[in-house]
Amino acid sequence: MPDEQKDYRAILKKYWGYDDFRAIQLPIIESICRGQDTLGLMPTGGGKSITFQVPTMAMDGLCLVITPLIALMKDQVSNLKRRGIKALALYSGMRPSQMYTVLDNAMYGHYKFLYVSPERLMTELFLSRLGRMKICLIAVDESHCISQWGYDFRPAYLQLAAIRKRLPGVPVLALTATATPEVVDDIQEKLLFAKKNVYKMSFERPNLAYIVRKTEDKYGELLKMLRSVQGSTILYVRNRRRTRELCEYLQKQGFTAEFYHAGLDDITRDARQRRWQAGESRIMVATNAFGMGIDKPDVRLVVHLDLPDSLEAYFQEAGRAGRDGAQAYAFIFYSRSDVTMLKKRVSDNFPDLDAIRLVYEHLQYYYQMAMGDGQGCIRQFDLEDFCRKFHHAILPCDGALKILSLARYIEYTEEQDSGSRVVFRVTREDLYHLRDMDAKADKLLMCMLRNYTGIFLEQTHISEEAMAELTGMTRQEVCEILIRLRMAGVISYVPRKRTPYIIYTRARVPMDELRFPPSAYEDRKARYLRRVEAMIGYVTNSSECRSRLLLNYFGEKNDHSCQQCDVCTAKADLPLLPGESRDDERLRRQVCDLLRERKCTPNVLYDALNTDRERLASLLRQLLDEEKIQWKDGYFSLNRYGRG
Ligand code: ADP
Repeated sequence: MPDEQKDYRAILKKYWGYDDFRAIQLPIIESICRGQDTLGLMPTGGGKSITFQVPTMAMDGLCLVITPLIALMKDQVSNLKRRGIKALALYSGMRPSQMYTVLDNAMYGHYKFLYVSPERLMTELFLSRLGRMKICLIAVDESHCISQWGYDFRPAYLQLAAIRKRLPGVPVLALTATATPEVVDDIQEKLLFAKKNVYKMSFERPNLAYIVRKTEDKYGELLKMLRSVQGSTILYVRNRRRTRELCEYLQKQGFTAEFYHAGLDDITRDARQRRWQAGESRIMVATNAFGMGIDKPDVRLVVHLDLPDSLEAYFQEAGRAGRDGAQAYAFIFYSRSDVTMLKKRVSDNFPDLDAIRLVYEHLQYYYQMAMGDGQGCIRQFDLEDFCRKFHHAILPCDGALKILSLARYIEYTEEQDSGSRVVFRVTREDLYHLRDMDAKADKLLMCMLRNYTGIFLEQTHISEEAMAELTGMTRQEVCEILIRLRMAGVISYVPRKRTPYIIYTRARVPMDELRFPPSAYEDRKARYLRRVEAMIGYVTNSSECRSRLLLNYFGEKNDHSCQQCDVCTAKADLPLLPGESRDDERLRRQVCDLLRERKCTPNVLYDALNTDRERLASLLRQLLDEEKIQWKDGYFSLNRYGRG
């Protein structure tokens, strides 16, 4: 064994206590230590962190880790500290004094890891210190977020190219748990890889059975599933209201359950996650807001009751089951209307160009905006009110406004629960030399400086109302000046999002002059459509192993079948779930088929089905319990609402 390998192993053993590397950890580490830009593709739970942590411990200097999730960041930092490794984190929401301390330590404190959220990177405070840090490696977690082709694009990631340019010679390690071949290329390009260099671990999950069921009785199927598969469970639905409804329904059925979505406050969310994580409640009913950064190894069952809009998202969510390596199940229940609804999401997100133009035109009537006017104007926006007045449907109208934003005619901020934030993008000295500031803008600037200390350093929550009161202006004036300052590059300003806003980033133009670049419309639509089609292809498929289908989608050629998805088990006539046998399933279907045609006496059923009386009687009792069939005047018949 070469000495170097022994060293990496010794580091692994010394700090983490593990005897050996997993799968592709070592090749990635060696690639990094040769100074090569590297992209590592590993499924969730594959052990990504070790791939930048071990080489950093073998190198001299500090590793800059970019990761979007503050909770995850804090977790990793405390993890490293526990192992006696010096680590720091820098994120929005810290007090300026804390940030100074973190940055001082990163420069002079012999620390090994600095975790930074992508939004913090391009702040003046950070950039001014970056040059004095001895960075040996840049690790980019969730690196698919840099790709506009991906399903989870985050514009802040694009700034990473600029950071790389400031740190010549420092290798980058990009990591992700999901990427299609075109995203893999895009990540390397956007991160300015010197040479293409990808290490990929198989995404196969041998302990995870992928199962799809078409059913018009999702809750009935769900109950059955929850009774046959024991253990920790996540149920995904798309709609916040349904998380609560389904949770209450399950509680009534005697299960312990929580619900979770982005609209809940942090404290409630944390408490629910903790209870579920600790096993105090078995089931988490959630929207897709739940998941990233959850490290619960013993999830046995993940069920999707609505279709996700991409296989990337599905693979991530389903992959949260069975991280401990023990048998686990990933179910999708879908009905005929789900496929139609998924297709409709394409036209909702991407209405026809003429429809988008019309929304733009109506916006001008709504605000009585004259041609050529508008630039820099900011208006509160009430989507429902607008749609009611101009007869638009909510979803496509929302889609149209987003496209108008991407094409840079307006800026449309959606409903969210955060305050307005401001940070200065120029220094104090620059500010004194600013020209073209009118008296009101000057007054507002002075007022902000006096009232919000630290506003030069960090995003600071401000109140437009308070500013208006203190300066004697109207709230509208304050907002418009802030927008003007933002356009002049003086401040960065994110308006409070509780009430959505429309901001005119350009003056009103005639509607037939609106132009939509492919990056705002066609390309995005084509990719969205491809993702939706892949999702539909996956659920409607009945001939190919589901695991193989998923792997192929992520560019992995795989010639064996998993022998545990619904397609493989049906082919091999194997039981699908513990306690459920294929024969039972078949008999059940036969009974329902017979009863669908006509009502039958028990004897007629018995004769037609060629089975023993005990089994048939037990199945009939079960179907009666489930209210799938009814018993009347000596005949069984299919329940009017039961569809077998
Ligand atoms: P990912 O970020 O890919 O989801 P993590 O880095 O969080 O995965 O690692 C998942 C789990 O596997 C962690 O508990 C980690 O300590 C463990 N792990 C990683 N590498 C090894 C290894 N070589 N041997 C044993 N356990 C490992």
